[in-house]
This record gives sequence, C-alpha cells and structure tokens, in this order.
Amino acid sequence: MREFESPSSINLYLLCPRKYYYRYIKNLIPPEDIILLRGKILHKVVEEFFKIKEISNNYEFEFKVIVLDLFNKNWQENLGIIKSFNLDDNVLKSYYEESKEMLLNWTGYLNNKIKQTNLEPNQAFSMLRGEREVTLFSPLLGVKGVLDAVYEDKIVDYKTSARDTITNDYRIQLGIYSLLFFEKFKRLPKSASLYFFKFGEREIMINEDLVKEAKEKILFVKSKTITEDKDDYPKNVGKYCKWSTGKCPYFDLCFPEN
Ligand code: SF4
Repeated sequence: MREFESPSSINLYLLCPRKYYYRYIKNLIPPEDIILLRGKILHKVVEEFFKIKEISNNYEFEFKVIVLDLFNKNWQENLGIIKSFNLDDNVLKSYYEESKEMLLNWTGYLNNKIKQTNLEPNQAFSMLRGEREVTLFSPLLGVKGVLDAVYEDKIVDYKTSARDTITNDYRIQLGIYSLLFFEKFKRLPKSASLYFFKFGEREIMINEDLVKEAKEKILFVKSKTITEDKDDYPKNVGKYCKWSTGKCPYFDLCFPEN
C-alpha cells in the first residue's frame, strides 16, 4: 500500500482500478503531451503572476501585459519539449492562441473580483492572492494533495479542462481537499471552487455529507490497494479506454490484440 494517496490517485482508482495499477503500482508514467504541458505552463504563469508585489490603479492594462509576458517566457522555456510533440503548425498555433485567451479571460475575472471588493486595488489583490500552492495532508488517512489557492473559508483549484462541469470526480476531489483542510485548520471551508481557464469559476458549497462521502471513498480505495497483484485491479472497460480522438495510455497493455 502506498503511504499517501492523492485526490487524483483516488479518482483514478475509482475510474479504473487497472489504470491505477499501471500508474501507481507499476509506476508507468504516461509520456507528457501538449495538454498536460499547457496545463503546467498556465499554472506556473498564475503562480508567477501572484508574485507581483504592487499594482497601480492602471492594473487592468498591467495585468494583460504581465500575464502575456509570463506566458511567452514560459512557452519559450518549454519550446524544446513542445516541438518534440511533432504537432502540426496550425494545431500548435491554436494551442498557443487559446492559452493566451484563457489567461486574458483570467485577468478579466481578477479585474471584476478586485472591483467587487470595493477595496483599494493592492489590498484587494493581496486578498485574492490567498495562500498559494498549499500542501495539505492527513497522516491518519494517508492522503495528501497540493491546492492551488487557500483562503479563509474557501479552497480553489485551477483546471484547463475542455468542459466546465463539476463532474462527480471533481466533486469528490473537492470533498477530499475539504477534508484535508479540516485536518489542518480544524474547520471546514464554506465553499470550494474550480477555476476553469476556459470558462471561469464554478463553485460548490461544502457540507458534512460531501466530506463523509469523500472519506468513504478514501477508505474504500485504501482497502483495495493493499496488494500488488494485478488481478486485484480489475479493468473497467468502457468509454475511458478509447474515444474518437485518443485512447487511454495503457490501452495497448490492456488490449494487446487490438
Ligand atoms: S484501457 Fe480501459 S481498462 Fe485498461 S487501464 Fe485504460 S481505462 Fe482501464
């Protein structure tokens, strides 16, 4: 059994135990692709952006310039890896442009938030920064995770998903983070949000039922991942194996005959 699971490893087991087996028992890490790398770049841009010490009253314009500057810097730094994906020039350009658009949308979201507070811009910006990249863990449950932002009574995680729905696995993920938040701060957050770079913020209220459900999922996964025997990790054959534009990274191991 692994000492610590994470909200993603728990969700991965719930999605498909065999996938969990390949990823976490055999430690077969799928190769990076443009989607994963783009996600990492956008997260890094946000973290670097929040290192700004002071903003002026002209912050709306400043934010756009800074975020694009940071994005270009990070894109350039990763250009070697990006090129190794051998993507068609037009496809690459569309990822590049879409990423810029996502970040500009995000600065628009920040501008609105700053205005809504009715505070002096620097005070509002500092409040919006919250605590960044906070590691929360429970030695008792054997779970840990890193949250993008933690506030007094709210937690936030950033996503680059193509859809903006709080799916059941996202709900469980937020429930697990809330449980970890409780272990650290001895209180539950009132709400949890996913900030979808493409669509904006989606928020859910946190209640005891969700946290209880999250705890049950953790205990269930822990009880099922004691062994290293492949047969204890059944395949969940379905839509996550293969879809119109791709397939699970372990598809060829699961179905060598195809
Ligand atoms: S191919 Fe399907 S069954 Fe195999 S690990 Fe992936 S999701 Fe699970």
